[in-house]
Amino acid sequence: MDFRLSEDNELIRDAAREFAEKRLFPNAEKFDEEGDIPHEIYQELAELGYFGMMVPEKYGGMELDNLTYICAMEEFARGCAGAMISLSVHNSLVCEAILQYGTDEQKEKYLPKLASGEIMGAYCLTEPNSGTDAGSLKTTAAESGDNFVLNGTKTFVTNGGIAGIYLVFTLTSKEAGSKGISCIIVEKDTKGMSIGAKEKKMGLKGSDTREISFDDCEVPQSNLLGERDKGFKIALSLLANGRIGVGSQAVGIAQAAYEEAIKYSKEREQFGQPICNFQAIAFKLADMKVRIDASRLLVHRAAWLKDNDMPHSTEASVAKLYATQSANWVCNEAVQIHGGYGYIKEYAVERYFRDARVTEIYEGTSEAQKIVISRAILK
Ligand SMILES: Cc1cc2nc3c(=O)[nH]c(=O)nc-3n(C[C@H](O)[C@H](O)[C@H](O)COP(=O)(O)OP(=O)(O)OC[C@H]3O[C@@H](n4cnc5c(N)ncnc54)[C@H](O)[C@@H]3O)c2cc1C
Repeated sequence: MDFRLSEDNELIRDAAREFAEKRLFPNAEKFDEEGDIPHEIYQELAELGYFGMMVPEKYGGMELDNLTYICAMEEFARGCAGAMISLSVHNSLVCEAILQYGTDEQKEKYLPKLASGEIMGAYCLTEPNSGTDAGSLKTTAAESGDNFVLNGTKTFVTNGGIAGIYLVFTLTSKEAGSKGISCIIVEKDTKGMSIGAKEKKMGLKGSDTREISFDDCEVPQSNLLGERDKGFKIALSLLANGRIGVGSQAVGIAQAAYEEAIKYSKEREQFGQPICNFQAIAFKLADMKVRIDASRLLVHRAAWLKDNDMPHSTEASVAKLYATQSANWVCNEAVQIHGGYGYIKEYAVERYFRDARVTEIYEGTSEAQKIVISRAILK
């Protein structure tokens, strides 16, 4: 077994790290404070190709494999977890969905625009009364001539206010429950679609999260993505990809908190010496390293399995569960190492602590990952 990354993996990872260190990390506190990531940041990311990381070159993408993508995403999360999640939803949920399930016409219509950053993508599965139980969603799409007419509300939509297309999971066969769900592409500004106010969140404050409602919103039937009534399977298969991405986000946040904790523990003196001289602090750093290393290996394993067309759904859940729990643990310890200063906004660990929290919630909660993993064990 060779655990080394290839030269290509490292090249893209290092380029992403350079961008994150120059453009994301120095501004992350501002993005958090202002609750916004300026459009120019996304534009710069798009110009460097990061909007079409796994999209084939013929559609204007970088055509990277999943492992290389994941290495870059970890770096973006280390710089600014809010910007990273916008990119992650766009790349691993929306671009991937169109690539895997789109018709040739849909690919030609949307992938070049997505890959160039002309438009951003959003993924609309969650509803006010349907979260973990995603199969119980209530948004409907009734047939009317050549159109679908959508009615319902989606909540917690990442990129909700800045996307150009929305992948909306909706009932096309109401009586069939989760076996009657389809995925429909809705373009921004379609009549009958309304975008709610930006949610005020605990962390990832720069990322744009909103409610999206549909009131007799008509879209052509040609906007159906994948097979009719097979949308729930599409949603779940995409989430397996997304979970590897959230795992890498957790590793990036944890790595950032760990680096701050090392630095601070060498600078801060108590009892006439740096606090890293105390074994209680040094052992925390050792435990952080072990958890981050293990998380990264699990995330890379899941990405490698995907790249090699091997089953990876359970491994994606294992990686997401462990990496996100570890990130929360690491950030908590990083705050502890900073003492009272860790509780003050001036120190980045305060933000990492808040940003890490949601990684155990979205794209499937930790409890949902345990359902996936235990079912695989017991089947
Ligand atoms: C910042 C942010 C961004 C998001 N972005 C998106 C997005 O872009 N698109 C999208 O569709 N969604 C998005 N979400 C929604 C997210 O995926 C859901 O919040 C998540 O799936 C949990 O659903 P819920 O909030 O309804 O919680 P619930 O499902 O109500 O869960 C509440 C609690 O009950 C537990 N629970 C539920 N069922 C079970 C069970 N069977 N066994 C054990 N425990 C259970 C859960 O684990 C959790 O602890 C986002 C959420 C946030 C906060």
